[in-house]
Amino acid sequence: MAKIHELASVLADQIAAGEVVERPASVVKELVENAIDAHSTQVDITVEESGLKRISVVDDGDGIADEDVEMAFKRHATSKITDRRDLFKVKSLGFRGEALPSIASVADVTLTTSTGSVGTMIHNVGGKIVAHEPAAARKGTDVTVKDLFGNVPARLKYLKSPTTELSKITDIVNRIALSYPDIAFSLVHNGRELTRTSGRGDLQQVIAGIYGVQSARKMVAISGETPDFKVSGYVSLPELTRASRQYISILLNGRYIHNYQLSKALVAGYGSKLMVGRYPLAVLAITMDPLLVDVNVHPTKQEVRISQEADLTKLIQTTVFQRLSQENLIPDVFSEM
Ligand code: ADP
Ligand code: MG
Repeated sequence: MAKIHELASVLADQIAAGEVVERPASVVKELVENAIDAHSTQVDITVEESGLKRISVVDDGDGIADEDVEMAFKRHATSKITDRRDLFKVKSLGFRGEALPSIASVADVTLTTSTGSVGTMIHNVGGKIVAHEPAAARKGTDVTVKDLFGNVPARLKYLKSPTTELSKITDIVNRIALSYPDIAFSLVHNGRELTRTSGRGDLQQVIAGIYGVQSARKMVAISGETPDFKVSGYVSLPELTRASRQYISILLNGRYIHNYQLSKALVAGYGSKLMVGRYPLAVLAITMDPLLVDVNVHPTKQEVRISQEADLTKLIQTTVFQRLSQENLIPDVFSEM
């Protein structure tokens, strides 16, 4: 008798979920990224008990047509890429078609959506659709995730304290808000508002909302470019530092990424202006041809491979260095904030 068989799809989804949904913050990230890909202008995130009881992400984006809504929960089902060539020029945050089926396989998910006409509600528990019916909804999508990891006790055990899990949620929401100043975000936890941005498109204002007005005042705009890369954003003056690199956000084509080489280049731009063990606050947005970056390195897409990375690190370092060289005195241009 043959020994090899295909895994049931729910089981396969649960295995994939291990990579995509590590913790409540990963759910928030995936849902918010979907909202952004759907051209939303407002994204409201509500969380209860650090996301374990409930995570809701409500957007005013394109919505999903009734005929597509079941497909959205199938693994590798996506509206964002079609063929091989698309993979090399991905502009959307998602493209792997894994988030919704992965989340649904380890939680209770209700998605209510409308493209502008009649709305739809679909309820999915542990990877099984238990209801799919018409619903009243305004244009956009509401995804509510309850009882996360309720069916995967091992995963629950692996989570950190509620405070730590919440701080990871706040962190990812803040970084995404810094990446999209044109979108209004709000984050509410157990009824308390933790983050709110206006969506008016002013990055310095978003920075002020997240790191405080005092900090924003001590940050200066940078910009630089080569034929292949463009960098822009804000970096702190050497007088404003932190004890870790975690206040450096690197955004590549609108995606928040982890990249040690790039943050090292940014820090190197300070030359000897920083004390040992101190790091700047920075929001560094990089724009480049998607052909020059491979975002398909890891399921969470926070690690990427960049070709000509050495040119980019040089650009970052010199842009920061030159900007800070102009700053002999602290300018008073931010006093209107
Ligand atoms: P991916 O984002 O990689 O395509 P997901 O599993 O996250 O995969 O989502 C599957 C599909 O469901 C998306 O391609 C998109 O068409 C649709 N979708 C998910 N969330 C939303 C949303 N908030 N608004 C509109 N469409 C959505
Ligand atoms: Mg997605």
